Amino acid sequence: MQAVKGMHDALPPQTRDWRRVERECRMALENYGYAEIRLPLLEKTELFSRSIGVGTDIVNKEMYTFRDRNDEPLSLRPEGTAGCARAVLENKLLAAGGPLRLWYGGAMFRYERPQKGRFRQFHQIGAEVFGLAGADIEAELLLVCARLWRRLGLPTSGKEALRLELNTLGDAAARSRYREELVAYFSAHRERLDADSERRLQTNPLRILDSKNPAMQDLIQTAPLLREHLSAESAERLEYLQTLLREADAPFEINPRLVRGLDYYNDTVFEWVSDQLGAQGTVCAGGRYDELVRHIGGPPTPAAGFALGLERLLALLWQTPAADADERVATADIYLVAVGREAETAARRIAEALRDARPDLRIAQHCGGGSFKSQMKKADKSGAVLALLLGEREAAEGTVALKPLRSGQEQQSVRQEELPEHIAAYF
Ligand code: ATP
Ligand code: MG
Repeated sequence: MQAVKGMHDALPPQTRDWRRVERECRMALENYGYAEIRLPLLEKTELFSRSIGVGTDIVNKEMYTFRDRNDEPLSLRPEGTAGCARAVLENKLLAAGGPLRLWYGGAMFRYERPQKGRFRQFHQIGAEVFGLAGADIEAELLLVCARLWRRLGLPTSGKEALRLELNTLGDAAARSRYREELVAYFSAHRERLDADSERRLQTNPLRILDSKNPAMQDLIQTAPLLREHLSAESAERLEYLQTLLREADAPFEINPRLVRGLDYYNDTVFEWVSDQLGAQGTVCAGGRYDELVRHIGGPPTPAAGFALGLERLLALLWQTPAADADERVATADIYLVAVGREAETAARRIAEALRDARPDLRIAQHCGGGSFKSQMKKADKSGAVLALLLGEREAAEGTVALKPLRSGQEQQSVRQEELPEHIAAYF
């Protein structure tokens, strides 16, 4: 049996890195006062068609949609924002007045062509803020990201850094004027459009600008810009956001061709992009979506947020060799070796006491018997720093032989009850 195409197992030792990244994300977000929300993996299909938009790739061709036994059309969530907005409305989380800062994490599903950095089940961590209309909250969202990259030890400047690209999509009126201009432009160059862009010309012309096809880039580079249609208010917002980022010493670039593949965005949009990941270089993306809550039946509610792709973030981290490479492949910190029934019983008791004293360590006890020599081989293979050896004599005397496995230090005999102090020297 094989896993479903585009869906992957996370295996040890990589799961340690997954946990670390998830922990850092949680800490960075909570550091700014964002609270966790947990959402269902399945939603009514209508939620996504009304929020992400019927003209988008996601809703058109990427959703895992089926009817349940009650004939209700349901979809595996392709992203988290729609479900989050639905939950905020349904549970009246804004009843006490805003603002509301939330974060979520988990699996998302899109029926895309699997390739490097693009999967059918992937994992996001996202933040959403409801009830704040200003550029100040947009700046805050970007600073959360910047802090997270720092915490993860990702370079913040130079060629390998994650670049912040910013743009504005303006308001609905600006986008509709711009859409007309784009359709005219691309229609005049119809022979140069690929099949995807041809389709998007009808459904979602802005999205042509997001094409990853190298053959389309020249045409895109000379396309008209939305900039010419911006309202004064939208232009001022982008200006103010830039001021706030400069004040916070956060580097950014304006990319006037940056658009997002979901319909609900307006004004500010952004992406964090790496040049180290090939074609799928966007690690994190987001922006403002003031119309979304209204689209799903709620009152007008300003909102903004981002989502980052954990697989792409991890791919980036795995490109720089980890300083703790040995530790990552190790499955234990301490390995207990015991020969003989009494010694095994003593070892089990010692292991339990050590786990009480040191919940931070991986303490593995050999199972399955065997000679000292064969057990020591397993201890070595586990990557443990220390082996604790017990034979008949140690069991009778209440001692244990403490053997450092990764340094040339001598083996020493210590009292069992003094083990926690002796171990402290190693961890
Ligand atoms: P892309 O332009 O790469 O298709 P997107 O605009 O569809 O991305 P969003 O819906 O904004 O992406 O999702 C936010 C982030 O989630 C992306 O920047 C990326 O890191 C990650 N992501 C999106 N789709 C996938 C996927 N199929 N596989 C892995 N990660 C993904
Ligand atoms: Mg996509």
